[in-house]
Amino acid sequence: MEPNFTLTSNSVDGFRSTWDVEGAEKEVQSRGISTETIQTNERGTNCDENSSSTATQTDKITGLKALTADEESKLNTWLKRILPKVEEELNYGVTYVEADHTIKSLSVQKHQILEAKNSSEAEKVEKGVATWLSVATQNAPTLVTSISAAVHESWCDHSAQIDIWIPNRSDPLRITWALGKSIPVKVCIESLAVNPFNRDIFAGGTITGDLYIWSYQYNNPEIVSELFVGSSQCGGILGMDWIKTVSMSNDSALLTCHNDGFVVLWKVGHSTVVKDKIFRIQNHAKEQNHALTSICTVNSSDFILGTIEGQLLMCSTSNAKQLPDEEKPLFDPFLTPFGKQTFSISKLQKIQYKERDCVASCDISGVVHVFGLDSLMVENREPLVIIKIPLPLNQKITIWNELEFVLCAGANGQTTVLRTKDGGKEIVENNLRGNGTCIELTNNKNWLVTGAYDGKFQIFKVDDEN
Ligand SMILES: [Zn+2]
Repeated sequence: MEPNFTLTSNSVDGFRSTWDVEGAEKEVQSRGISTETIQTNERGTNCDENSSSTATQTDKITGLKALTADEESKLNTWLKRILPKVEEELNYGVTYVEADHTIKSLSVQKHQILEAKNSSEAEKVEKGVATWLSVATQNAPTLVTSISAAVHESWCDHSAQIDIWIPNRSDPLRITWALGKSIPVKVCIESLAVNPFNRDIFAGGTITGDLYIWSYQYNNPEIVSELFVGSSQCGGILGMDWIKTVSMSNDSALLTCHNDGFVVLWKVGHSTVVKDKIFRIQNHAKEQNHALTSICTVNSSDFILGTIEGQLLMCSTSNAKQLPDEEKPLFDPFLTPFGKQTFSISKLQKIQYKERDCVASCDISGVVHVFGLDSLMVENREPLVIIKIPLPLNQKITIWNELEFVLCAGANGQTTVLRTKDGGKEIVENNLRGNGTCIELTNNKNWLVTGAYDGKFQIFKVDDEN
């Protein structure tokens, strides 16, 4: 059967070469797609093959003519030469548009570098996690950070800790964060999450599935007490989110998301923490658990999970079926798949968009899908908006409310502010080392932290220039 192709003309969207191909580029743009593009790539390599290759290449693609051994070897040589250059270009990510300075923008300025003294015992490749607690002075909250090794062979034998950074105003014009306390933990911390309904309480999940819950006193920040430590027996804690409970008491609940396909519900009372339920997140078609990456609660009973395969699952803790003859309180929750992205989901973030409560789901290629968090969400299944953020794979982002800006923790402490309206970008250069693995904005959006860069975290001051 003849393939049915449609010829369309699109503007160039995406990759601009870093090579000096100015003249050729103009020609390409004026003619649309033409054989000139090949000449551009091959300039200075093997120009003498230009005329013949354009004609034969079409044949090769449609498979009408087999390659001769000579052609094959030439193609092979050419591919070997071009491949590293293509990879290098791809690593720059999609080309940004220069920012239009007349439109509202964000001012992001380097403020302070934090380095915990004994934190660099982790291996060279490290991951940082951070969470902002309640405001301690003026508009500056206390910060908790932790560094873990990015790769664990079988067990963790690092001397892990969390660091509590307290802001102070010894100089009335400048706030600086100082290390208030370091608390040792048994193994590396994989995730940290403040309780958004009581920012004096925060939780840490380890790579072996232990849960820590700490309480901090904002009026006496040296005092950080361990409310709870216990094992989930469900594998490493990749992410967690707190649940807003309806009762008037101070009790709360926490959901932890585990790498072997379980979610655990913890009831956090004033003096006790109880492992209440374990949810098995099973792909019934494959009869195996989903490989989870991220979690985000919706209300007191519903939560969303992201998977390695790029799926989004809506789950409900109510109506969960208890599984028979299990020693653990194991439940099968009701799962509704409602979204699918191409790559592994790297982040789920609750945002406001067009005055609606929404969840933004970002995959590792920088594509963000935004869904409304209301009853229509699951039925409609289509995202309200899709944004393709030009960034190299695996960079960590955080989204400004209303989706106006996306902030991205890049290599060497560099931070990129991308304006979603027009694709304008501003880059805050930096000279730290390593790749950013965490980026967290404060609740009041005045401060940003990124890390961990060779054991260091970078704090930025953020101003929303209206
Ligand atoms: Zn470790």
